[in-house]
Amino acid sequence: MRYPQTFIDDLKRQADIVRVVQDYVQLKKKGSNWMACCPFHKEKTPSFSVSPAKEIFYCFGCHKGGSVFNFVMEIERVSFPEAIKLVADKSGVALPVMVDDSRFQARRLELEEVIELNKWALEWWEQQLESSGEGRIARDYLEAREITEETRKTFRLGYAPDSWEALSSHLRQKGATQDQIERSGLVVKKESGTGSYDRFRGRLIFPVIDIQGKPIAFGGRTLRNEDAKYINSPETAAYVKGRNLFGLNLTRDEIRRSEFVILVEGFLDLIVPYQFGIRNVAASLGTALTPDQVKLLGRFARKVVVNYDGDKAGVQAAKKAIEILLAEDLEVKILVLPDGADPDDFLKKFGATEYHRRRGEAQPHLQFVIDQAVADRKLSNPADKEAAIDEVLPYVRAVNSRIQKREYFDFAMSALRISDTTLRRELWHSIRGGAGDGARARRVISKPAQLKLTVAEEHLLSAVFADDTLRASVLGMLQPEDYEDLATAAIFRALLELEREHQAVSFESVSLKTEGDEQVSALLPMLMMNESLHASNKHYTPEECVYAFRLMKLQNSIDELRDQSSIAERDGDTEKLAKLSVGQTELERRKRALLPRPEVLQTGS
Ligand SMILES: [Zn+2]
Repeated sequence: MRYPQTFIDDLKRQADIVRVVQDYVQLKKKGSNWMACCPFHKEKTPSFSVSPAKEIFYCFGCHKGGSVFNFVMEIERVSFPEAIKLVADKSGVALPVMVDDSRFQARRLELEEVIELNKWALEWWEQQLESSGEGRIARDYLEAREITEETRKTFRLGYAPDSWEALSSHLRQKGATQDQIERSGLVVKKESGTGSYDRFRGRLIFPVIDIQGKPIAFGGRTLRNEDAKYINSPETAAYVKGRNLFGLNLTRDEIRRSEFVILVEGFLDLIVPYQFGIRNVAASLGTALTPDQVKLLGRFARKVVVNYDGDKAGVQAAKKAIEILLAEDLEVKILVLPDGADPDDFLKKFGATEYHRRRGEAQPHLQFVIDQAVADRKLSNPADKEAAIDEVLPYVRAVNSRIQKREYFDFAMSALRISDTTLRRELWHSIRGGAGDGARARRVISKPAQLKLTVAEEHLLSAVFADDTLRASVLGMLQPEDYEDLATAAIFRALLELEREHQAVSFESVSLKTEGDEQVSALLPMLMMNESLHASNKHYTPEECVYAFRLMKLQNSIDELRDQSSIAERDGDTEKLAKLSVGQTELERRKRALLPRPEVLQTGS
């Protein structure tokens, strides 16, 4: 922590969350809250709300929420300390002297140094490309690739001369020390002894510029047919792999405007379309797409057309990308250009109109996955069919919306020609989410499963948050076994602790207590915002609450047994099936016993 905690607490009180948010979105007063169309996802009716009383924001559409600092971090893509600075700025609060944190300071300084050296290097490389004699080789290359001078300048391309130390000497002349040069990643340290040599030699330089406009890293393409066609900057204080997308600094407005983004792989796959006027593009920089990159992308559009190379490696990379994109709830289509063409080749051969036409016909992600899965298989062969199912189902499971998931599932079943209703039901159980099947559906795409509360759970918890008296009574009646199996157990534990410590329940205090459980922490803004929306509509007695929680818990166990049964049935394990069925009957009996007489609970039976 850089700033004293007391300052952060004070600032939070002084900063008017409505005023800060107002800088970014048009808020309208509604009751005690303020509403707007969400800046984090696309929508026509406002579901983004800000509560000045609770000092939180929450979007009922995309579920983003939190404090004023969370809002600024999210919308500006900045770190926590940077958000504090921005909020202090906006609120006219002077920043205090930072708490001594020498490591942080050193890192900050190093980051600024690396950016500074990168700027010097880039300007110099641009000059080399523009006018040096040796730079002709790069100018010729660009001409052969039909890259115009305007495009070259827009993307700030450069040329690194074929020399071991030309750049290093230039940087030293500008005043950089050997240490600074080594930390910048622009050179490679010599293995033996001291000293270093220029990393990029005889290469065309593509700068990676972040959305704040800073050159954070470089890619260099060989112009001498070396084995390594491309080399890239190593990680430095300014550059972490997998956090940025190439081109986004130039294309983000067009991506927002067109409401979708075309995702490509390489530098030229972005630069060439850009030159052809296709400007809603971002490039994943050759490495596999990462969740961080997808989160960044998701700020600008929720629909993605993946247009990777049509070769085998490209198809594999596209499938991997689908997983990551679905996990962030983006809508995904796949564009495969004919004959394994990349966007660069295709546009030069067939032009933008043809490209747009193909793009319009891009396949929904599932169709693409199915096509790949059945490509070299015979569906009449059971082993082949099973393999195809295994390959396709994870992509259905990864879909978050249950309705959409069902639609995709039915689509996949008919595409894979599975008509047997028992098998269909088993497969559905294995992917419908929540607990269940180990074997097959487990290998499913690993989204850190988003917690989905039942409506009842949500309402009840909101009520418990809203009403101090109700909360005290409910907490007094609850036994650990009543909540321990619920997804929201961490919230109950936090509330109980706060109660014991006589601490107030607020967004901050509960957040602190549930810090270890990210999924649960993420639910807090919703529960607290719900509170103000629902509190007046429905009143629960403490008994009703406890009763409902117990019922929920029973229902969870019943669902789980049911899932296990359908697997046992599939595997023909009759012994297990019988055991499960006994358990199920018992749970059903307990549920029935619970149903009509909630008052029995008061005796704690
Ligand atoms: Zn939203």
